[in-house]
Amino acid sequence: MEKKDLYEILGVSKTATQDEIKSAFRKLAKEYHPDMHKNEQDKKKAEEKFKEIASAYKILSDPEQRERYDRYGWDALKTPAGSGYSEGFDFDSIFNFDMGDIFSDFSDIFGDFLGFESQKGRARGKKRKGSDIRYDIEIDFFEAVFGAKKVIEIKRKESCINCNGSGLKPGSKMKVCSTCGGHGKVRQSQGFFTIVTTCPKCHGQGEFPEQICPECKGEGVQNKKRKIEIKIPAGIENESYIKLENEGNEGSSGYKGDLYVVIHIKEHPFFKRQGDDVIINLPVTIGQAVLGDEIEVPTIYGLEKIKIPNGIQNGEIITLKNKGFQKPYSSSKGAMHLVVNIEIPKNPNSKLKELFNQVKNVETENDYFSVKEFNKIKENFKKGEKNG
Ligand SMILES: [Zn+2]
Ligand SMILES: [Zn+2]
Repeated sequence: MEKKDLYEILGVSKTATQDEIKSAFRKLAKEYHPDMHKNEQDKKKAEEKFKEIASAYKILSDPEQRERYDRYGWDALKTPAGSGYSEGFDFDSIFNFDMGDIFSDFSDIFGDFLGFESQKGRARGKKRKGSDIRYDIEIDFFEAVFGAKKVIEIKRKESCINCNGSGLKPGSKMKVCSTCGGHGKVRQSQGFFTIVTTCPKCHGQGEFPEQICPECKGEGVQNKKRKIEIKIPAGIENESYIKLENEGNEGSSGYKGDLYVVIHIKEHPFFKRQGDDVIINLPVTIGQAVLGDEIEVPTIYGLEKIKIPNGIQNGEIITLKNKGFQKPYSSSKGAMHLVVNIEIPKNPNSKLKELFNQVKNVETENDYFSVKEFNKIKENFKKGEKNG
């Protein structure tokens, strides 16, 4: 990456105040936030730009680092080996932190204007979303055809009734952490180094309950069993899921995860499904295949009259429109395909045998396209043998 001027990246002057820098950063960060870009390529570009902006802001928003950058330029941000120059940056590492780190580091800025959460939940007092729940359910083939209502029972975390989700014993208060003075972080100086770590006493919260709620042990949430009705739409596909928003686990401060119900459809011995289409095997007799016929066939919606055209071949497909699965959340339907399977009688009755004998005697190669082709090849083969 080229070493661009940090002030140029943010579009501010060298004399810009901290507020001007912050507001320039907010504006640019909003513009280049990857979530604002749908197209994959735009997203990638925006992410690069976003990292650049975040890096520039990270340095310029810190008065100490800004001063060093002003004085020494990019050289100030390098760490000369063994120099004890501890607070400098390694150039590459500046631009190579991951997006999650950026959000986490700047969550106090992002939190209020973009509405997304710190992905690592590190920021103090951040509302944490509860986790999602997956529930697998098996339904019958025809429930998938027509849709169904199901009641499922799930176990999930819900806000504790006793403490209203605070984790505090009712009547007691939060106490400011004396170890970190409410900052959630503690600084330790070791020679040149200043190490900032999460406060071990309050785990970064800056405060902790005087007395914890005995019902939820201070967690603020409790396990609850809940019955939930789900509506399975007609035509739902196997292995697809239905998302029920806010029906997952409740996190701290009432943010709920989602519930994902994954649908498994039992196979049907007769009807096979392919996307929105239904496929069945259609056994056809020799007589029907030669002369054609009109018959009734089962579809997923009941019996249906169809025509078998005369001269139909083995493996040919008869298609019935609108006899397949309903496309979910739509009124159109797939098709039903009947794959012709001409059956040859293995033990024909005596009358049939007699008739087939007559057939065999009167049929010629002109009645059979493939037989005629085969005979032609055979003839050529014989001639070839003679010549050779
Ligand atoms: Zn409680
Ligand atoms: Zn603390």
